[in-house]
Amino acid sequence: MQAELIITNARVLTMDPNRPRAEAIALGGGRILAVGSRQRVEAIAGPNCQVIDADGRTVLPGFVESHLHLVLGGAELTHLQVGGLYGFDALHRAFADFSAKNRDAPLLMAQGAGYAMLDHPMTRADLDAMVPDRPIAMAAADHHTVWANTAALRAAGILHGLVCPHGHEVVMGPDGLATGELREFEAFAPVVALGGEARLNLGIATGEEPTPWPSDAEMAIDRAKVAAGLRHCAMHGITSMVNMDGNRFTLDLLDGLRRQGLLTARVKVPFHYKPHMELSALDRAEAMSRDYNDDWLQSGFVKLFMDGVIDSRTAYMLNDYPGMSGHRAEPLFAPARFAEIAVEADRRGLQIAVHAIGDGAVRNTIDGYEAAARANGLRDMRHRIEHIELIDQADVPRLGALGIVASLQPPHAPGTMDFALLPTMEVIGATRWADAYLCRSLVEQGAKVAFASDWPVTDVSVLRGLGASQTRPPYSGGVDERLGLMESLHAYTAGGAWAAHREAVTGSLSVGLAADVVMLTGDVEAVAPESIAELGVALTICGGQITYSC
Ligand SMILES: [Zn+2]
Repeated sequence: MQAELIITNARVLTMDPNRPRAEAIALGGGRILAVGSRQRVEAIAGPNCQVIDADGRTVLPGFVESHLHLVLGGAELTHLQVGGLYGFDALHRAFADFSAKNRDAPLLMAQGAGYAMLDHPMTRADLDAMVPDRPIAMAAADHHTVWANTAALRAAGILHGLVCPHGHEVVMGPDGLATGELREFEAFAPVVALGGEARLNLGIATGEEPTPWPSDAEMAIDRAKVAAGLRHCAMHGITSMVNMDGNRFTLDLLDGLRRQGLLTARVKVPFHYKPHMELSALDRAEAMSRDYNDDWLQSGFVKLFMDGVIDSRTAYMLNDYPGMSGHRAEPLFAPARFAEIAVEADRRGLQIAVHAIGDGAVRNTIDGYEAAARANGLRDMRHRIEHIELIDQADVPRLGALGIVASLQPPHAPGTMDFALLPTMEVIGATRWADAYLCRSLVEQGAKVAFASDWPVTDVSVLRGLGASQTRPPYSGGVDERLGLMESLHAYTAGGAWAAHREAVTGSLSVGLAADVVMLTGDVEAVAPESIAELGVALTICGGQITYSC
């Protein structure tokens, strides 16, 4: 086959151990046709071949974003962004501006709030003082807490409380009314629904399908939001993504975008297994995996939440939270229950990805994977643990031994990128800092690592994430947990593809794999880790099609 597009004069980092470096690459028919010297690649140029002179810039495999929430991220691009704002006045001004620009919005929704934004725990009274007469709400950057004003609570019908599943809570005040703090997805779903985004929230909240099934017009509205998310990711060089919430509806939206020619990345979407479900629910996971299983859209895995997050003290810990005798939160799945689910999912050939943040949740998850390996034999399942913000040292070598993937988010380590050290490090407590946000320690003890942003929890920028992974500070008592440039790049490309069982499709620049390529605006090896984020993405190609160029 003749090449349709050639990139020459590049610093190609292939992530293929057989040929780590090259100066040119040829693409055709959606595939990589040649990788090597300029002469060799130019020799297969077709008659109308587009030739791009990279002028010494870095060319890499398209980035694999291993943990994100595409649908939520896309929808939130139009919300108010309050990340980095502190104090009542700054927030008040932001909401006032946003309110003036969005006169008809049924809900003014903000994203990116910090738990220590005000000098006291946020209540609906604080938000009422900013906007008294319209429903407003604000989500924490971690997306596990929403604060709403009285108008929003009333409109959502939860001012007087709401019965929620275990782990989800409409926090009530001494006056018998909701305080405005809504913990976890099912508690804040009614408020989010006010903004017309209930359908898009189902994948993370209940994992159920929308009922009634959306009309064509509603599907079109939702598709537009997902398309905006895809465009945003293409801008950051992302060509593959593992969505970490989902249902069949999510795949159907993406399939619709594919028919419109707007699917600019390969997306995996899980079946979201909730604590109340019977094992037979895995039939639905299998059906999704059967119906969506090609190079672009795929399911094939089950997502579970084992716990919440540190800042709201819903992460399940092995020890009490500092200063809170008896409180270490609870796992969302009891150990025996999770083991039963893991054994059955594994038996059915479904990969498992578990959100586990506290060291107790991480241990429960590993124990369940171990039970699956005992029951079904240790096969190449690549079960994953998402986040691992705290881990007991005794559990660290178990990941490698059991073939478990550590799906980590370099931007999340407090004090590294956008998340401040406080309150998180204080909630963890100094005695546990040495075991917080491990990365190099996991790698050195045999864990396979995939990197991600958890967008929209943090900025989806892979370049900023690369900087974070190489510059994160050591915590008192701990060791240096940074990874070097090549290891970090690997975790954003080949490592992520492997963790998603996609290494035969993408993740490295090897002949025969999909033509998923990113070119940066400079030479990534020539810039200091502190300055990597100043580089940009010049060109993104997915399946041979240019999905972004600047
Ligand atoms: Zn997530």
